[in-house]
Amino acid sequence: MAAAGKRNTGRFRDPRHWLGGLAAGEVFVRCPRCAERASVLPCPEELADGTRHDVWLRRRLSCLGCAYTDLWDAPRLANNARAFPELSGPNDPYFGLPLWLSTKCRGRVLWAYNAEHLNLLETYVSARLRERGQHMGSQTLVERLPAWIKNGRHRAEVLDAIGQLRALLA
Ligand SMILES: [Zn+2]
Repeated sequence: MAAAGKRNTGRFRDPRHWLGGLAAGEVFVRCPRCAERASVLPCPEELADGTRHDVWLRRRLSCLGCAYTDLWDAPRLANNARAFPELSGPNDPYFGLPLWLSTKCRGRVLWAYNAEHLNLLETYVSARLRERGQHMGSQTLVERLPAWIKNGRHRAEVLDAIGQLRALLA
């Protein structure tokens, strides 16, 4: 997967990723039965008609380790509209399970949904010069990052934690 921004020049241009866009793909969680890595993905039949990945699609949790599966449907609001999943972490936005990519850093929790999310965090944190992307009216993932991650003095510690998370994907 291509890393966002240009790491070599030390310059990071916000690619305007929205957290919901990252959550719409594969999300890794801790299996509620065996505590190993499980995967949350849109159900294949939901994508059969060419629908793009979306946070409202029905999702299946599956664990290759113990064969545990579960299904998630977007809850309905009083007006029957689908409720928007909570994207704040460190739990997954659908089943509310602990994210697989989660570790302590500076007394806080550093978390990511998947490898693409991790790549974006790493590229941002390692960049010396950070540029905001063109304003589009909504906050991007990067703009919503907590200050302790954005603080350049924490760069080495945060990159170390990102490395620990990357090792969990191996
Ligand atoms: Zn399992």
